[in-house]
Amino acid sequence: MKKQFILLTALFVVSMAGSLVYSLGLPAVFGQTKSVTERPRITRTASTARSETSRSKAFIAAAAANASSLSSLSWPFGGKNQTGWAIYVPLIAHAIGAEPDADSAEFAANLSYWQEAKGLPATGVVDAATMQAFAGYWQSQRLGKSAPANRELLSAPITDFWDSGRDPNMLQLERTTYAAYKRMIAAAAKDLGKELRFTPNGELAAGEKFLRIVSAYRSPEYQAALRKREPNAGRVALAKNSPHFTGHALDIYVGGEPVTTKDPNRLIQVQTPAYRWLVKNASKFGFYPYFYEPWHWEYVPGR
Ligand SMILES: [Zn+2]
Repeated sequence: MKKQFILLTALFVVSMAGSLVYSLGLPAVFGQTKSVTERPRITRTASTARSETSRSKAFIAAAAANASSLSSLSWPFGGKNQTGWAIYVPLIAHAIGAEPDADSAEFAANLSYWQEAKGLPATGVVDAATMQAFAGYWQSQRLGKSAPANRELLSAPITDFWDSGRDPNMLQLERTTYAAYKRMIAAAAKDLGKELRFTPNGELAAGEKFLRIVSAYRSPEYQAALRKREPNAGRVALAKNSPHFTGHALDIYVGGEPVTTKDPNRLIQVQTPAYRWLVKNASKFGFYPYFYEPWHWEYVPGR
């Protein structure tokens, strides 16, 4: 009788311990101490697990589609057919809050949220409609007609310019734009100390070409003269109403040929540490990009 009682008590204790362990979510297997750390932290129902799996499968497929369209997608901009979107990967990644790995599932997943917010099909695949939406988004951040009329031009030191032989009459820019540019360079000095050369007090060192000003204020008269001299000079010929008239637009050296829109040149530019840094940081100082020209940045205070 006593023996039976002890056995029953022992069975009861074991079964209580077992159900306690089970209710804590610990594996009801004794003698495996390490499995405690392996238990899943989040309880998922079968259906959420199933939809997450199909979602991540969809983004793996979207990532593969993105990898192949990167250099072949056809989409319109500026009255011309554009080929591929590799040039815009850093800007897209910044806009969607992803790393610039265009062929990753994470990139596709983040893109799908951006597409959803813009009323596009949330496929995670970069298509022509998505590129047009990005172009519209970036263009909306630019000066437009919002440049203040009460501007005050100043002449910056020639040492701030990329071309040390630049015409002394071509060193002008708007006063607050210049101050913001200098603050931005001081910040770049803290982040890009390994990639570019700076002085100990946070200025671009002599001989450093990156991030120097290629071009700033251009008067309508100067622009007209340029057009006359080179009627087929591409971007200059097109720019009858240049944002450079405001003094708020800066062309900044980001590598390659300073201001050439040919795709191979722009592909070089968008891979430089200077450009990548600008994409991530310029807006903190009030500068927004013209996405098509990696060198062209506009100061839009209070955006
Ligand atoms: Zn420009």
